[in-house]
Amino acid sequence: MGLGQGYPQGAGCGLSSKKPQKPATKTVTAGRKASLTGPVVNVPVWRASTHLYENVAELEAGKGRNEDGRFFYGRRGSPTQWSLADALTAMEPGAHGTMLYPSGVAAIACALLSVLKAGDVLLMTDNVYDPSRSLADGFLKRFGVETRYFDPRTTDYDALFCDRTRAILLESPGSLTFEMQDIPAICAAAKKRNVVTLLDNTWATSYFHTALDKGIDMAILSCTKYIVGHSDVMMGSVTTHDKLWPKLRHTAQQLGQTVSPDDAYLASRGLRTLSVRMKAHETSALHIAQWLQTQADVAAVFHPALPDCPGHDIWKR
Ligand SMILES: *Cc1c(COP(=O)(O)O)cnc(C)c1O
Repeated sequence: MGLGQGYPQGAGCGLSSKKPQKPATKTVTAGRKASLTGPVVNVPVWRASTHLYENVAELEAGKGRNEDGRFFYGRRGSPTQWSLADALTAMEPGAHGTMLYPSGVAAIACALLSVLKAGDVLLMTDNVYDPSRSLADGFLKRFGVETRYFDPRTTDYDALFCDRTRAILLESPGSLTFEMQDIPAICAAAKKRNVVTLLDNTWATSYFHTALDKGIDMAILSCTKYIVGHSDVMMGSVTTHDKLWPKLRHTAQQLGQTVSPDDAYLASRGLRTLSVRMKAHETSALHIAQWLQTQADVAAVFHPALPDCPGHDIWKR
């Protein structure tokens, strides 16, 4: 539903500067599509299942190329979805494109299905979001994929892999005990064995932690949380580089994954305030964590920003 590159950025986009944008600036400007939707700041809700063409040649041109950013059929999206996808791509340096899904769980499932086959071993961090575990144990198993869980605090990365390991799903901080993982180190070990690295980046978002430039192949978000930010839309996304993009996109299309333009619009609107909300979340959560530490009834507080919490060094880095 959206390519970061090759998409017309028309006049009035305000994106002409060659200077690299800071993350907070990207959240406000990324995804503008003035060439398609007129000189507007934000792409409007664009509802369509069917598009009309001037003539057969124009239809063939759109169909034959099978590219995002060209009208084909509603399941392939419209400018509203492409705008959000492009904005999420812009948030991840080194990314080629982003696919959108109707939930974070759908994003995790489709990312895994795009790289796994029967006989493969999937590594999963033991503090993974519970529905990811349910997908592995209750669904992937039926299709011949074996999942092995590992302690998120391990540093013996080489011991994790075997000949059949095809992919590793990480989460850092992880649900719900917030262990931090050394993403660049794990990615380096995985890369030596051609193992695909996937990161559920929902807790940090690409605002606080860009994933692809740390070596991650597929960065997954439950946009339902911080991207949407207002508790009124379910959505997920997977952002990847050019090598895995065709597989990711094709799998999503085969499985019929699509999000509504209305939901995409709300998610884009949420993204515009991500930087100020994340800073507020950070301040408030730390305040609450420090208060909890002073409470006699509380045995332990897990928050990687606390200096005495395991993983604090990685969190800081
Ligand atoms: C909520 C969440 C998900 C799932 O997202 P949904 O949009 O609810 O399907 C996945 N991972 C993490 C870390 C989450 O917090």
